[in-house]
Amino acid sequence: MNNQAATALEHRPPRAGAWMETGRPRQAVLVAPGRLELREFEPPSPGPGAVLIAVKCALSCGTDLKTFRRGHPMFHLPTLFGHEFSGVVVEIGEGVHNFKIGDPIMAAPTAPCGDCFYCNRAQENLCPQVMEQMVLGAYADYLLLPAHVVARNAFKKPASLTFEEAALLEPLSCVLHAQELARAEEFETALILGAGPFGLLHLLALKARGVSQVVVAGRRQNRLRRAGELGADLVIDVDRADLAREMSRLNGGHGPDLVIESTGQVAGWQESLRWVRRGGRVVFFGGCPANTTLEVDTRRMHYDNLSLLAPFHFRPRDVRRAFEVLRDKTLNAGRIISARRRLSELGEVFELLERGAVLKCAVIP
Ligand SMILES: [Zn+2]
Ligand SMILES: [Zn+2]
Repeated sequence: MNNQAATALEHRPPRAGAWMETGRPRQAVLVAPGRLELREFEPPSPGPGAVLIAVKCALSCGTDLKTFRRGHPMFHLPTLFGHEFSGVVVEIGEGVHNFKIGDPIMAAPTAPCGDCFYCNRAQENLCPQVMEQMVLGAYADYLLLPAHVVARNAFKKPASLTFEEAALLEPLSCVLHAQELARAEEFETALILGAGPFGLLHLLALKARGVSQVVVAGRRQNRLRRAGELGADLVIDVDRADLAREMSRLNGGHGPDLVIESTGQVAGWQESLRWVRRGGRVVFFGGCPANTTLEVDTRRMHYDNLSLLAPFHFRPRDVRRAFEVLRDKTLNAGRIISARRRLSELGEVFELLERGAVLKCAVIP
């Protein structure tokens, strides 16, 4: 690999022609934190049960940004990345009956084995295969979908959905899994901490459930404005407002019934415990950096009867539900995609994400 060429792309928008458009298949490789390369590759032929797709859209995700910044405990560098995608089937392996060449396709990047300790307890999100055999590499012209994903978590894209909307299947599956645990009621007041793409997907899901008051607390003006446009009943800028005072006004002075933590920072986890009402629920949705701990006041936990929930990932039933919600346009979730770039501009995409200038970016080969 050419270190100098790669360094030139760090945190900078690519100059015209920085990545040659040769017409040969390309895939993005994260070589080291902050260092991306777009390399030519030979798309693999799909084995039994697998399919090869031409990627039509890959979406940026908070996980990608974290991996870009500091690597990821689960993915060793250099790594392929990008895991939210949609495309068109271009080649099928032996024994694939649910797809044929030319089918538009949307899929989650993971699927459980269906037969382990966790799968047998309907906790497929904890199946070891889920993270061990995750599909990475959607920032590419072609992507191989392995048999376990094709069999359990892939769908034909309905014509009513754009490829961009279809690529929301994975994040929406995470959100709907969490929402099932959260069990929000219409009469409740919910607080979402964090106005990133996941926070805003939670907002859309809570409003679609009819929750009467949904409050979004976050940092950046553009995101908070977006939260307002997407239906937040109250938006709080945590850098300017007195959060304690705002919370004391909510829900007749009781504080939120439900807090959805969507910052992935320990400080946010700590705040969630502070603001939830007596008898309320906290959903710790955003995963924090490794080796961090949360302090819980045992007195408050017990005597205030708090319920702490920490949903991770999703199960096939959540993916099915996410598919239906997208197909039926229940949330119009495509509204959280705020920018569009070519694959050759991926360096710029991460620069925009670093600055918080975009929510979710559609990357189009
Ligand atoms: Zn994601
Ligand atoms: Zn399993």
